[in-house]
Amino acid sequence: MEEPQSTSPHVLLFPAPAQGHLNVMLKLAELLSLSSIRVTFLTTEHSYRQLTLHSDVLPRFSLFPSFQFRTISDGLPLSHPRTFSHHLPEMLHSFVSVTKPLFRDMLLSPHFSSDLTCLILDGFFSYLLDIDDDFVKVPVFCFRTFGACSTWTILSIPNLIKQEQLTIKGEDDMDRILDNVPGMENLLRRRDLPGFCRATDPNNDPILQFIMSTFIRSTKFSALIMNTFEDLEGPILSNIRTLCPNLYSIGPLHALLKTKLNHETESLNNLWEVDRSCLTWLDNQAAGSVIYVSFGSITVMGNRELLEFWHGLFNSGRRFLWVIRPDLVKGKNGEIEIPAELEEGTKQRGYMVGWTPQEKVLCHEAVGGFLTHSGWNSTLESIVAGKPMICWPYGFDQQVNSRFVSNVWNLGLDMKDLCDRETVAKMVNDVMVNRKEEFVRSATEIANLARQSVNPGGSSYANFDRLVEDIRNLSG
Ligand code: UDP
Repeated sequence: MEEPQSTSPHVLLFPAPAQGHLNVMLKLAELLSLSSIRVTFLTTEHSYRQLTLHSDVLPRFSLFPSFQFRTISDGLPLSHPRTFSHHLPEMLHSFVSVTKPLFRDMLLSPHFSSDLTCLILDGFFSYLLDIDDDFVKVPVFCFRTFGACSTWTILSIPNLIKQEQLTIKGEDDMDRILDNVPGMENLLRRRDLPGFCRATDPNNDPILQFIMSTFIRSTKFSALIMNTFEDLEGPILSNIRTLCPNLYSIGPLHALLKTKLNHETESLNNLWEVDRSCLTWLDNQAAGSVIYVSFGSITVMGNRELLEFWHGLFNSGRRFLWVIRPDLVKGKNGEIEIPAELEEGTKQRGYMVGWTPQEKVLCHEAVGGFLTHSGWNSTLESIVAGKPMICWPYGFDQQVNSRFVSNVWNLGLDMKDLCDRETVAKMVNDVMVNRKEEFVRSATEIANLARQSVNPGGSSYANFDRLVEDIRNLSG
């Protein structure tokens, strides 16, 4: 690695303060640093505290002397729980009223901005700038953490609203196919639209309108960077390019980082404390025998759903490794008791932890399948590891992702809107035993394509190099 000079390009990255966003934008920061670009990583004070408490992010980035963290207030008190699933409107209000002016002051300060080459802003934060803000003297690149399939679906929402496709007229309506998303004809049902599209009054729903507007805004910046790859989502990326021609598809970023580092690397960007004992547990299980269960960093469920999953996993007869975050079950605050009738079996066949090193877990040979909430990072990590999925989407983009996993890529089953022990047990056995060969075949094919895309000669590898070159050219 060449040491960056004071004349090297300087890029400011600003992710939203959520696990999935920080994780992937830190990977982008590491990739840019490896390419001798000076990086300033701006994050909220709260996220910085969590990151430095639970991960080795500081020693990792100390390898890059010109890399720096900077923090900014999110305007919320220290004790605020900051859960996106519960407090989104309050958090948005605080980002707009407190973070936005602070961010603008920072960009206006000559001390900071004089040598800035460009800004890579998380699409979720696109409202922190106004497109025609002339005080931003550098190009703004937008980074979208969602896949192309959900991004394009969300970009199509204004048309869906116009054509009155979003109003739900009853439960039957949920299974009606929508032919109004170009390139996805005969695929998406109402049920498969992003979770926030289930609003009763789409024209006036603040969350739906807000998210839609951030996506439309994302296409108006100088460029769009996406964590996906051409062999997975090429035709949909072409549709997005009609709105934003300067698009860099550079994913899966965690796999690209491994290529560029030229060695295995573990994600160290955790907001929770990692329990590595699960790797030792996995070492003692037979190849392909374990279903890994994790619903990401934001999903919450009720006690009823927890018990249905528990009985279903138990009744499937398979071994399971299950991430139960302290705040996964509403009102439980980490206090979860094993149901008496499942106690013995759970001890024999199950293992529960609060947070895993997920990329490593998914690549472990004992893991034969992934019961996931279909967050985009989890989906890509499973794709790279070549593991079939059972999808139980919770919200946001996940409803679209799970439809693509099951009906386009044939990587597993979609358990959307169902949560009963019979379905859980049946789907676990379908993925792990009955239809295993079929799903493993597609998973292996797509994993190979993912690997090719991040290797020299692959599309994401080339697109990332183009991004670096374009940034260098900006700094003259
Ligand atoms: N993750 C992890 N350990 C866990 C659960 C999740 O490291 O026990 C990571 C996972 O690898 C992924 C991120 O958390 O990178 C979750 O992002 P995703 O987009 O899948 O879902 P979100 O949390 O944003 O809903």
